[in-house]
Order: sequence, then C-alpha cells, then structure tokens
Amino acid sequence: MPLFVEIALPVPLRQNFTYQVPSSLASSLQKGLRVKVPFGRQQVIGLIIRVTEHCDLKPQQIKSILALIDTTPLLPNTLFTLTQWASRYYFCSLGQMLSQAIPVALRKGASVTDNVRTFWQLTEAGKNADLNTLKRATAQKKVIQHLHDSILYTDEVAGLAFSPSALKALSEKQWIVKKTQVIQADLSWRKTLVMGEEPHQLNAEQAIAVATLTQQENYQCTLLEGVTGSGKTEVYLALLETILLRRRQALILVPEIGLTPQTINRFKRRFNVNVAVIHSGLTDNQRYRAWQQAKSGEAAIIIGTRSALFTPMAYPGIIILDEEHDASFKQQEGVGYHARDLAVMRGHLENIPVLLGTATPSLETLQNALIGRYQHLTLGIRAGNAEKVRQGIIDIRNQPLRAGLSGALINEMRLHLEAGNQVMLFLNRRGFAPALLCHECGHLHECDRCDAFFTIHQSLGEIRCHHCSNQYAIPQQCHQCGSTLLAAQGVGTEQLADFLEKEFPHFPVVRIDRDTTRKKGALENQLNAILKGEYKILVGTQMLAKGHHFPDVTLVGLLDVDGALFSADFRAPERFGQLYTQVSGRAGRAAKPGTVLLQTHQSENILLKELMQKGYGEFARNQLTERQQALLPPAWHMILLRAEAHQAQDADNFLSQIAQLLPQDDQCEVIGPMPAPLDKKAGKFRRQLIFQTKNRQQLQQAFEQALPQIEALPMAKRCRWSIDRDPQDLL
Ligand code: ADP
Ligand code: ZN
Ligand code: ZN
Repeated sequence: MPLFVEIALPVPLRQNFTYQVPSSLASSLQKGLRVKVPFGRQQVIGLIIRVTEHCDLKPQQIKSILALIDTTPLLPNTLFTLTQWASRYYFCSLGQMLSQAIPVALRKGASVTDNVRTFWQLTEAGKNADLNTLKRATAQKKVIQHLHDSILYTDEVAGLAFSPSALKALSEKQWIVKKTQVIQADLSWRKTLVMGEEPHQLNAEQAIAVATLTQQENYQCTLLEGVTGSGKTEVYLALLETILLRRRQALILVPEIGLTPQTINRFKRRFNVNVAVIHSGLTDNQRYRAWQQAKSGEAAIIIGTRSALFTPMAYPGIIILDEEHDASFKQQEGVGYHARDLAVMRGHLENIPVLLGTATPSLETLQNALIGRYQHLTLGIRAGNAEKVRQGIIDIRNQPLRAGLSGALINEMRLHLEAGNQVMLFLNRRGFAPALLCHECGHLHECDRCDAFFTIHQSLGEIRCHHCSNQYAIPQQCHQCGSTLLAAQGVGTEQLADFLEKEFPHFPVVRIDRDTTRKKGALENQLNAILKGEYKILVGTQMLAKGHHFPDVTLVGLLDVDGALFSADFRAPERFGQLYTQVSGRAGRAAKPGTVLLQTHQSENILLKELMQKGYGEFARNQLTERQQALLPPAWHMILLRAEAHQAQDADNFLSQIAQLLPQDDQCEVIGPMPAPLDKKAGKFRRQLIFQTKNRQQLQQAFEQALPQIEALPMAKRCRWSIDRDPQDLL
C-alpha cells in the first residue's frame, strides 16, 4: 500500500501539498516532522501535516519526498495547533504561518538533536605518536599538545586559532577523531531558584495585583491597567518569582522599541536564571540557540519581541505582554498576525495565564476586560514617591513660533533647565523640514513615485521620501520654475535640535529618531548618556515616548500634534490618547514633580479636553462607546483588502469584483473600493476594500467561502494584493 503525506510548505499559495513516501521512510513518519521535497525546480523544506493512504492525484502528478529531517516533531502540539488556528484566522497557508513560527536556521534544515556538540579527540595512535615526526608541522603539533590534556570542540576551533588544515591532516593520519556529545540542558533553576537583587516593598495596589495573579494557574487572561510609573514591571517580577518557584517558564513579550538592555537587565538582576532574548536583530544561529534553550527548559525566562510569541517552552508557566496596546505587536508585512491575540490563544491552548499590562489599554483589550472576559486589575497611583503631573495647553493660534516653539514653552524650558532638570520635546517628524517650498511659484517638491512631499535632511544635504527609497541632493533651483528662492516648510526634529543648540548653548541637546539611532547600539548609548545627565534637552519622535524611564525629566513638551487629531483613520483618537498619555508619563517619574505642556491650534477640541481633564481611562471608555455606535472594531469585525497596481483601474476593478463576491446585509458590510490614504506609493496606486461583520464567526465563514473565488479572479494576477485581518492602520 503506497503511503502519502500532506505537507505544509512556505510558499505563497493557500494550500498544502501531497507527496508520496518512499517505502524506506514509511515506518518513521509522523505529524510535525520536517521533510525535504521537490517543488518546481527547487528543493523546499516543509512540515508533515497528515499521513494518509489515499491520494486523488494521478500517479504521474505526484512526487516523492526526498528526505526526512527530524525524528521527533519540531514543535510541541500546542504550538502546532496554534499555527493551524492562526493560518485559518489570518487566511494564509499553514506553511506561511509556520515560517513565521520557526527560526530561519530550522527552516533551512538545521538539526534539532538537542544540544549536540562535536569535538576532536586523540586516537590511541595519536596518543602514542612520536611528536618529533611533526617537527616542521607546528600547527599540527599544537593540536596534539592541546588534545593531550583536553578535547577540542569544533565550534571553538576558530576562536582558539587552531588550523583547520592541521586538523584535516591529523585526521587523515588517524591520530585524531571527531566525536559527538549530548550536552544535558542545565535545569538547575528548577531545583533551587537563586534570587538576585532585593525587591521593593510592594505598595497596597501592587500587593493586591500580585496576590490575585499568583492564584491563577490555569488559563485566565488579565488586563493590568496601571498608570505610567505605577510599578507594573515590579508586579511582573513579583509574579515571576511564584512562577519560577513552581518550576515553570515565563514568556515575556515587549514592543520592538522596549527591548533594551535596561529592560532585560531588570529581569536578569532579580533572578539568577538563564534569560533567553529573542528579537529580529539576532543572527540565525543566535536565534536558534535561544529557541533551543527555551525549548529544553534551560532558559527560565524568555524575553522577546513579536515573533518570540512562537517560542516553544518545555515547562510553560505564563505569558506576559508588556505595553499590550503597542502597534508593533501587529505584523504589517506578509502575514499580518497580532502577537497579542495569538498570545491569548496560546495561553488557552497551553492552559496557562496570560497577563496584558499597559497604562493605555487598546480598546480591544479594554472591551474584553469590561465585559468580564478578562480579569481587570488596576494600579492608579505612581509607585515610589512620584507625584501627579501638572498639565497645560498652550494655544498657538496667531503666536509667533521659533522652530515650532512658542515663547511660553521656551520660557518654561528655561525655568526647568536652570533648576538643573532635563526637558523632553516630542515632535513626531524626523528630518529638518517636512517640505521644500518655492518662494516664487509656491511649488511644493513632491516625490515622483508617491503622493508625498520630500522631507529635507539638511545635515545629509538631501531630500528624501519617507515612503519609498527616493532621495536626491537638495535642489538649488525650483523643479517647476527654476527659481533659487527655495525655503524649508515646517519643522522636523533636526531643525528643532539645531535651533535649541543655539538658543540654549549651555544645555547639551540630544536628538532621538530613526535617523540618529540607525547604527547598532546607538540608541542604547544615547539613553545611557541621558540617564547620566550628559544631555539636558531631549528631542525626539515616538521612539522617545515609549517605556523609557528618565528620573530627571520634569518638563515634557508636545509640539505638533494637531495632525494626529484629524487623521482619517478610525483609530486616530485612540492612538493619540495613548501617545499623549505615554509621552506625559515621561515627566516627573521620580521624586520631582512633572509638567506637561501641549502646543495646539485646537485648544477647544473636545477629545483633547476630555483626555486632559479625565485621563486616558475615561477617554478610552467613551471612545469604545463611539466605536460601538459607529459599528467599528472592536464592536464589529474587520478585514481590509489592499490591492496595488501600476494602473489604478486594475486595482479598482479587482476590488470591485471581490465586493461582488461578499455578502451584504444588516450583519455584513462592504465599504469601497476606495483610495488608500497614501494613494500612490513607490509608483503604484493603492486601493482598499473593507469587509465588516457583526460577529466574528460570520466573517470567518463568509470570507472563507469567497476566498477561492477571489483567488481565481483573472485580475488577481495583475495586482499585488493582501488580506489584513483586524487592521491596525488603514495606510
Ligand atoms: P511601570 O512598569 O508601571 O512604568 P515600573 O515598574 O518601571 O513602572 O516602576 C517605576 C519606578 O518605580 C521604577 O523605578 C521602580 O523601581 C519604582 N518602583 C516600583 N514599585 C515600587 C515600590 N513598591 N516601591 C518603590 N519603588 C517602586
Ligand atoms: Zn518655483
Ligand atoms: Zn516616494
């Protein structure tokens, strides 16, 4: 009886593939093993989904698998189930979802035989060999001498400067031989947990939170809503102690920008355990090692960004997501999964608690907490001695501005600086100026490939498009009329920092944005210098707003936020509320009281007033009611279909045809096609279509039904298109 296997392959086709199994491999087959198979002209590595005795394909259509890579399944069952669930939820193939979940080294076929190391050892002949015969071969002599006392791990050969050709020569003489050794995972933390740094005495709110959380042993999702500086991280640490004493591991997910050595060290200092760190900056090999340490149970704590969600654990105990509202948990490119939502699902499947912490909960999480699906804990007061911040609005209508700064803000800055404190200015626009204007004809220089203005980068002498890779030297003459009277329009962080250096020559300025932190370790160095007080004025974009703890900052100024209040995106008010609250939270974290000043042309704006007077909590609850009334997420469920093409017509037609395939009634709504907010990008026109339903199941069913027909549309081949479930922004 021939045997077949269904294989998930990392290819952009929403299906699995069937292969035949040569009889020599038939006995060792199992779900979850990696195999190498022919695919087109290539050889690809995939995962066995199912072993079956039937196949509808004709014998000449079916190919055989080439090799079986594993002897035991690569992923624990729960993670396999999670990726299966996720591929259905996000409408991608299982193979695509699995390639998000599996480290590159393993996707390329690396062996998972647990921690095997190979080493060189002397043979009997080698031990008795006469070294005098090696007189001139000093490299070989060095090897033999070393091996008389110890062994030589192959992965240390280069580090210890042994010569590979000497090793080869000795091995050919059969004086040395290569052996393998299984390194036992070090699980000593499960026997005795060694504590590090002494914890703070928890305050009453923290103690209640910890007491509640330590009672959870099975699946339970909890929102920990704690104002910035209320000591959420202290709560995580106290909770971790219990988890580790239960001899279980913890997976901690943080936003991309939050994964600094500062954060990691806080966990390392508290517990004397192995902490595996997983993020996109690692080499394939480092990532794979961290993955193995988590899988074997050697790493008691695993900290990582979005994709670390898929890290297997031998003894799963809890998943903690810090700053759960952060947009970086949603992947934007390729498979658009949301690490928070998958973390909750994983908690379900592993039957372990999930903790979501933030000062500014997303409306999705808030809704779940308010309807009682999640447990809801709050920390309302700042830990330690930090006092409440003072907030103020500066109405800049008709005010003269210098580099975007009002006189009132400059005066306030002077007071804080002269008192020896630090000042932080937030401006969410990098570069020198967001546009280049011709003073004679009014022409604004626009990217020729996007619907966007060029940003001026004075220090680089370039104009750059922030939406594609377009960049040119700053023009001497207007592209339209040839005039040489060109002027920078608007203010970016570069210009602001330049101005401040002149205005406050005695107070060093640091600028933190994507341009100044491009080099590896640059952000880290800047943050350290800020903490040491080497800088007094901090200028930055969003990057500066997140999670950092600067005890000497007493004044925070927000410069140009009006745009954020009027964006077309339905999430704009929520995002603005989060940003404002997070930025304000940087002020006065230690013993010093803080002030937050916001410059605006919209001082009467209702949202702004509500946010400042009532705080994020109430603001967010009102936003949630509005979303419910407007039938928007999280009340309704949404898919965003994006299509781009060189001809706008193609994208439009394709989406119109899709619209025809989707149901529309009082429970299902189709909106569009319509141009994306950035209509043209990198030379392509971008259109979108929204499909919304009242309940989640409906969306799943209706779209699953339409998908094969959508894929079969001839237009599908003429556009680049994608499906974004639960879209986080409509760009
Ligand atoms: P969050 O994560 O909510 O922003 P952190 O846990 O980082 O807050 O705490 C903010 C600051 O307060 C840190 O410097 C921390 O060491 C300190 N802190 C936290 N809890 C306490 C406590 N119970 N007593 C004294 N200081 C505390
Ligand atoms: Zn001109
Ligand atoms: Zn461009």
